Amino acid sequence: MCLRAIIYNRSRIPDPAGSDGSVAQSLIKAVRGTRDLLPPDTDTWNFVDAAARDCFRVYNFHEIRTPILEDLALFQRSVGEETDIVAKEMFAWEDRARAESEKGQWLALRPENTAGVVRAYIEHKLWERPGLQKLFYIGPQFRRERPQKGRYRQFYQIGAEIIGPPSSGSESPARDAEVLDMLAALLDRLGIEHVSLQLNSVGDPEDRRQYNVRLREALEPVAGQMCTDCRRRAVTNPLRVLDCKVPADQPIIGSLPRISDHLGPAAREHFEGLQRILQRLEIPYSINARLVRGLDYYVRTVFEFTHGALGAQNAILGGGRYDGLSEALGGPRSPGIGFAIGEDRLVMALAEAGAATARAPDVFIAPLGPGMNAEAARLAHELRRHDLIVETGDDSFRLKKLLETAARLGAHYAVIVGEDELATGQLALKDLSSGEQRQVPREELAARIIKN
Ligand code: AMP
Repeated sequence: MCLRAIIYNRSRIPDPAGSDGSVAQSLIKAVRGTRDLLPPDTDTWNFVDAAARDCFRVYNFHEIRTPILEDLALFQRSVGEETDIVAKEMFAWEDRARAESEKGQWLALRPENTAGVVRAYIEHKLWERPGLQKLFYIGPQFRRERPQKGRYRQFYQIGAEIIGPPSSGSESPARDAEVLDMLAALLDRLGIEHVSLQLNSVGDPEDRRQYNVRLREALEPVAGQMCTDCRRRAVTNPLRVLDCKVPADQPIIGSLPRISDHLGPAAREHFEGLQRILQRLEIPYSINARLVRGLDYYVRTVFEFTHGALGAQNAILGGGRYDGLSEALGGPRSPGIGFAIGEDRLVMALAEAGAATARAPDVFIAPLGPGMNAEAARLAHELRRHDLIVETGDDSFRLKKLLETAARLGAHYAVIVGEDELATGQLALKDLSSGEQRQVPREELAARIIKN
């Protein structure tokens, strides 16, 4: 039996050829909310990835790669069933059962990566390793949100987590400060300006419980005047009301009790400790009493960096502390703190700032005359060993056309390789911005290009 028959007979997957067997002619496009990242934009993405990796290295973080596909229960138990992410935005489905008698497993495309990192931390007993676990990840996440500028169904996050048993110092505000210092350093390295750090404490679980009671009381008489989401949240998860972005709801939200007035002594002390270190590090921040963030697992510190030029989707990154998450997932007590940067938005901010990140060849090799392709390939091979970015032309084209191609690619130099050049060992090196051309001995070519 052919493979197609095996696949289609077993499931309800539609046959792309249609019921009459004729192949559909319509073009297949990228799925709504997903997009292809193309050059030269991918140069910017690589630039951001490289800067992040450099930053993680000096702060002594190591990479973790977790699967994109996880058990749905992981997100229900960590992010929270009442959050928008889990209640409305998950890509989840029941996977085919292995046997008729069995139920299929519910799988989900990860909507965020902290849950996966903590699952891996528990599964591989990383708490048994000495010291703190300082982990970073870079990868795609999936949420079925309404697509718009800066908001996609497949988007990318760069994130990091510090987690470990209490004996490793994982609870200390010094860890929160370390994470924020690293973020400030990364944004600085990328040259991203006009960012502001918004900070808050959502207290310990007991503080939150008491605050939730107060909030519910305060919402009861006014929830009827709010949006449908808020009416639901006022009952199920009142803290989420503070996240609401609907303009008409803002005056009511502004009048609600503040969590900062309901912090217990331990959470207050922690928050003050963090602020002392931030001040010493000269990291500017403002306290935003309404910042609670959309995930249930946060305790104590929560933060966001917002960017002036990004409009409605202005949060470039967010994070916070999740001291109870490991236990909620069946692991040992392991306080932690982390963040996730929205890479799509970071790249947008760089583009708005006009950052020059596109990569162009250092040199274009123009083979002049028949049979010169092999010589051009040889020279390209030599120059690439010196870490130069090299593009080669083809000996079937005329020199004029080759130089036009070199200029269109933005190459800094062109080198002409012809019979005469090979005979004398002197190659013609043309500076494509000034137009100046000079003869350079072959063995000095790489050094000359690198020097300029
Ligand atoms: P969160 O995991 O919700 O805390 O989000 C962290 C960061 O990821 C946000 O600050 C955004 O920059 C980014 N982000 C979240 N959802 C999306 C999305 N649908 N599209 C693009 N970026 C997103």
